[in-house]
Amino acid sequence: MSNEELLRRHEAGGGRLAASNAAGAAAVPALRTVVLTCMDARIDVSPLFGLEPGEVHVLRNAGGVVTDDVVRSVVISQRKLGTRDVLVVQHSGCGLASFTDEEFSEELALEVGMRPPWRTHAFADPAVNVRRGVARLRHDPFLLPETVVRGFVLDIESFALSEVTDDEPAVRGDDAVRESA
Ligand SMILES: [Zn+2]
Repeated sequence: MSNEELLRRHEAGGGRLAASNAAGAAAVPALRTVVLTCMDARIDVSPLFGLEPGEVHVLRNAGGVVTDDVVRSVVISQRKLGTRDVLVVQHSGCGLASFTDEEFSEELALEVGMRPPWRTHAFADPAVNVRRGVARLRHDPFLLPETVVRGFVLDIESFALSEVTDDEPAVRGDDAVRESA
């Protein structure tokens, strides 16, 4: 039903607007940057960072989590399309902080009779998750050595960004349980 609504809006001018916005933009991102963020419907990356088409690669998934597939996309972005910097942006009020991996897997198992082969990457604290994602990207052997990775937590109310620093703070008990789930 809603698929049809999107296609109707495309016909009603979306396609023409997108084409005119992208006119003259190259496939190589002009700002040589990859933004990784959550699929949350409230986050609109272009106004958030003042972006135009042709400037960055935007990768999105549930949580804005650094997964194998995110690494795949960043490596292709760097090697084939010239990007260098990576910005990891997770946010407060994320759906991935509302359940644990174990809970979600069990829910699915009860409904469909088996656990999923993948992990949800649920987390309790986005700052902890961003720090680990940034560390993973910094140590990935396939990313270029000159890659600059920075991580942030976006406040979903004010849209203020807080940078996540390198030092791992003492993790609260519930975080330790959730992160290891
Ligand atoms: Zn989210």
